[in-house]
Amino acid sequence: MRVRSKSNLVFRRERFGMSVYVPERDDIFLLDEQVSNLLDSIGPDWTNFSSKKSGLDVLASLGIIEAVRSSGTPITQRGYSGIHLIGKFLSTPIVERPLLVNCFATSWCPLKCVYCHADDLMDPKTRENEHPDQINDVAEVAKNLDALVYVVTGGDPLTRPERTLALINMIPFDAAVVLDTSGVGQVDDMVRILEARSIHVRVSVDSMNPRINQKLRPLNKKIFPELAIDGRTSLDYVEKMLVAGLELGAGVSVQTVVTKHNDSLRHMLDLRDWLLSRGVRNWVLHIATNAGMANKAFVAKKKKLGNETNAGIFPSPNTSRILRKLVDLTMDEGIDMDIRTTNASPTPNSVFLVGSVGSLFVQGFGPGRVDKKRLSFHQSDISGMWGTFSDAGHVSRYTNLDIFEGPQSMQLDLE
Ligand code: SF4
Repeated sequence: MRVRSKSNLVFRRERFGMSVYVPERDDIFLLDEQVSNLLDSIGPDWTNFSSKKSGLDVLASLGIIEAVRSSGTPITQRGYSGIHLIGKFLSTPIVERPLLVNCFATSWCPLKCVYCHADDLMDPKTRENEHPDQINDVAEVAKNLDALVYVVTGGDPLTRPERTLALINMIPFDAAVVLDTSGVGQVDDMVRILEARSIHVRVSVDSMNPRINQKLRPLNKKIFPELAIDGRTSLDYVEKMLVAGLELGAGVSVQTVVTKHNDSLRHMLDLRDWLLSRGVRNWVLHIATNAGMANKAFVAKKKKLGNETNAGIFPSPNTSRILRKLVDLTMDEGIDMDIRTTNASPTPNSVFLVGSVGSLFVQGFGPGRVDKKRLSFHQSDISGMWGTFSDAGHVSRYTNLDIFEGPQSMQLDLE
């Protein structure tokens, strides 16, 4: 077998080995020392390696190396929905710096999603006082956190493309960038942003049914009336953005929030097939939590109804099992798709976020609601600050550990 390294990976040495980001699939893999050493030994030129190392096939199919069998057949990158810990790990590995930091390019958003968690960072005062200099502060705090991956988000970055471009150009070039958008905006703006550097674009869709998607992700017609022309819904915009992202050759993924409106296995399978038919091969599912707007609506409706039975949008208690089934069916059918899941509830203090004015927040969880606790942040305090928060939760969230039971790492045959 001949192998060579890939030039577009972003990686970082860690105490346990290495963390690696594969941009096409927007996946972070953590490698143990043995696998990391093997990766270090693979250079940019094609080299013959023993075909007995079947672990090389796995690394190639995950997109971590390039490989060609002795027969001349290349090993192509394939969908993978399993654990992202590769090698021997006895427990969740600890990273000393964040794997991923979310950075607000703006607090403006064209939607008003029923479960929005960022509502407290998008208050009118913050939005209306946005000025161009703040984006330097956002970039400065983000850079000091020294993350592997920066997710440029909001609000919606497409509402303020100049701020988004400025931020993206200030993010270190040895880190990865993900554009996280509702997909509602101008295609030209997204194209300009994606052409600035190598960027993975993540677009949000909750249902292939426009009525359900619009119920969960309605346009904010009051602030952005021009987007609602001709009766357009958020799904109409998303379809155009998916086409544009795929045509540009950018890595594209879709993220979905699972609520009681889309939590059946049938709905999930239909949405999966809708995404596949449009060329999407990467799908991230988040289970809705009792937080932000979802919590406010739940409390108000519970008061009105006098009970909480139908008050919330939260999915069935069986959701983890349904998502597991979705992954199993997709793998059994040999479908080339990555499905990653996060269940935020059991992992407090695991999400870092830099607000649109350059303040660092960590998402914390209390009974029944979520507060984002503001941190006073100094560069010299990074290691102390990191030790205070849920490092295991952070790793679990970004390596697909949240809903997996059984073996927590994938061992490779490298002998
Ligand atoms: S697109 Fe994101 S930021 Fe905007 S309302 Fe929806 S969840 Fe909130």
